[in-house]
Amino acid sequence: MYLVNVERHFDAAHYLRGYQGKCENLHGHRYRVVARLKAFSNQNAGMAYDFTILKKQLAGILERFDHRCLNEVPPFDEINPSAENIARTIYFELKDQLGKLPEGMHVDAITVWESPESWVEYQPD
Ligand SMILES: [Zn+2]
Repeated sequence: MYLVNVERHFDAAHYLRGYQGKCENLHGHRYRVVARLKAFSNQNAGMAYDFTILKKQLAGILERFDHRCLNEVPPFDEINPSAENIARTIYFELKDQLGKLPEGMHVDAITVWESPESWVEYQPD
């Protein structure tokens, strides 16, 4: 079994609605995002999945969040741009973009860091 990981980042502002504390105020993060695929085969030239393709797909998703206030970017104009919601949103967008993957392969998890000490990993139930 192989876990294939790529990392990208974006810089954005956000604030949390309905929350009392520091995060209700507008502030920024460098969001670090890791996409992880799980595969049971490396039949493609010895690779389970091409890093280049995976990085490009992830970067394409993150592009619309970069240097923006997330609260103005769908779906975060309606749901809170918490690290949890960001990770889940990226998970399903990446899953859609990658389309049909080779047998036994799937998007395993998306991890989003808001700071070097705080991160969330999303995996579907
Ligand atoms: Zn924050």
